[in-house]
Amino acid sequence: MANQRRPRVALIGCGGTISSVAVHEFDYIDYPETGRKLTAGEVLERIPALAERADIIAIPFREVGSSAIGPDDWIRLANTITKAAAEDSELSGFIVLHGTATLEETAYFLNLTLKCEQPVVITAAQRPLNTVGTDAAANALAALRTVVDPASRGRGVLVVLNDEIHAAREVTKGSTYRLHAFHSGAFGPIGVIDPDRVVYSRKPERPHTTATPFHIPSDGGLPRVDVIYSCAGNDGTFVEAAVKAGARGLVVAGFAPGMPSPGERAALLEASKQGIAVVQASRVGSGRVGRRAWLRQAGWIGADDLTPQKARILLALALVSTGDPDKIQEMFDRY
Ligand code: GLU
Repeated sequence: MANQRRPRVALIGCGGTISSVAVHEFDYIDYPETGRKLTAGEVLERIPALAERADIIAIPFREVGSSAIGPDDWIRLANTITKAAAEDSELSGFIVLHGTATLEETAYFLNLTLKCEQPVVITAAQRPLNTVGTDAAANALAALRTVVDPASRGRGVLVVLNDEIHAAREVTKGSTYRLHAFHSGAFGPIGVIDPDRVVYSRKPERPHTTATPFHIPSDGGLPRVDVIYSCAGNDGTFVEAAVKAGARGLVVAGFAPGMPSPGERAALLEASKQGIAVVQASRVGSGRVGRRAWLRQAGWIGADDLTPQKARILLALALVSTGDPDKIQEMFDRY
């Protein structure tokens, strides 16, 4: 990059393992309770290779494990990115440092709602940044190389770990402790970060960011949607509890290829009668849930191939504008 203008990149810190300092160099397990979390600026000091390669604008956001990140954070993060993109036209893109636990949810929300053109790359780590064999610096550098690569534009929100680039809609965390924890199921990564260059092999097929009808809701603006996890012999207790808690939508993480237990089904049909939207997903993490005849008759929606946690996000965004199951089904078929 010696003869080129240095790229300018915003680094937004949401905490997570990539921002964690553990109490000893082999602590891969207890650091969420015993270690501490750094701001984006402090991470930048610990990984000097970032500022050697680009002008990095550190934006503090939250220093938490991502089990504590939720819908209000998604909204605030989307607004933070939108504001920075509008105020600084020189920005090449955004790197978001995030915990691995809910990374895929934040990524999919941003992928559906952001309207800025600059690439947004979310990265994370499986091992705190001061531990032996940490992936924190490698992933942060890979994220930087991805965000400044012109080929990264127009592919939606990207997730970078372990030298792979994943599409926000497809990626999921599939391992608790392995470094190769993230995968995109049957589809695979959309690109890789090799030592010599960033190489893309495909574009995500589904519309994203500027090509969706979804907008960043106002604070507290996402309707409550709960996920019901089916297990053999379940009764309707959790469905009824979610309805009582004020859910406007329910996603069933059901048995493959997409059904609840009889007890859940009866309670869900009751919920439907009260106008609560029901999306049938599957708990197996792979394959589509099509809208079979009885789903259509019940006015329920098939989740396509979205995981329950991502179906929850799409349903919540859909419910901002419509409660019509056919219209919501069209959104699930498309986004
Ligand atoms: N990697 C996890 C996360 O942030 C755990 C880290 C923590 O809770 O501190 O999602």
